[in-house]
Parts: sequence; C-alpha cells; structure tokens
Amino acid sequence: MEKQKIRKVEKTVKKKALLVSYNPVGDFTIGRFEGKHVNILSGNHYHNCIGSEKRRVRDAEEELGALVHGLKTKDLDSVDQIIAYVGKCGFDRAVKVIERFVNEGRKVTMVACDCNWSAKQHIASRLGIPLVECSCGGESKMGEIAERIEKTGKVNLRGV
Ligand SMILES: [Zn+2]
Ligand SMILES: [Zn+2]
Repeated sequence: MEKQKIRKVEKTVKKKALLVSYNPVGDFTIGRFEGKHVNILSGNHYHNCIGSEKRRVRDAEEELGALVHGLKTKDLDSVDQIIAYVGKCGFDRAVKVIERFVNEGRKVTMVACDCNWSAKQHIASRLGIPLVECSCGGESKMGEIAERIEKTGKVNLRGV
C-alpha cells in the first residue's frame, strides 16, 4: 500500500510574505517595512480609533485604502503570500482587499479579531482561505507572525 502523504504544515517562504493591516504590526515601523522575508504595510488606526462609528469606519477604510493604493505590481511580484488583518472598523474594505488578492490567484490568510466573527468565518470559508484569530487591533498577533517569518523564512500559522 502506498504511504499516506503527510501534509506539510510549514511552508517555506520562497518569495516574501506581505502583511497588510490598517493597524500597527508589532513594533515594526508604521507605513512600509521591507525585511528579508517579510514586507509590511501598516497603518495607525487602532491608536486613533475615536469618534462616531461612522468616522471610525471612514478613517480605517481611508488608512487601508491609502496603503493598498501604494502597492505596485512589482511589490506584489516579490510576494507569494499575503496575510491581512480584518478588524471591526475596516471590515468591509479589508474584505474587499482580500477578495481582490484571492481573485488574482494569490495565497491569502485572514487574521481577524472576534468582532463579527461568524461573518469572518463565513467569508474565509467562501474564499477557501485560512482564518487566524487575534485580539482586537491585531497588533501583537500580526507582530508575532511577522517576526517569526522574518526570523525563520517560514510561515507557520499553527499555534500562533
Ligand atoms: Zn477602529
Ligand atoms: Zn475586534
């Protein structure tokens, strides 16, 4: 009998991983960070999340829109996986960004807080992408993920 194939859990980053969040990512520079194995596009929404819900949503969406707008084809060519944060304020825009990447045939992982969790689960399963839970803002989890990839050159989202 043929040996059962064991699915590899650890994927080596051949190109780079791109992390996208409208919030800070750990202690990485806010804005654009280019490392050896990770590139990061991050905003500063979480620490400026104030005002009416309408304003918070608008601010988060604008922050994410500006980050993604600055992405060039050559940025994406150097990347073979994308890890994107979906929170509460930037929910709609972040989901649209993820859908775009998935439609372009890119490997995407959603990192999301548990606000509106069932909708996030539904979207991840519809798109067929992994979903990783984090606390609101995603700052520390995204930071851990980025640090681990940068250090090891591997994406291992199990147990993060
Ligand atoms: Zn917010
Ligand atoms: Zn949340």
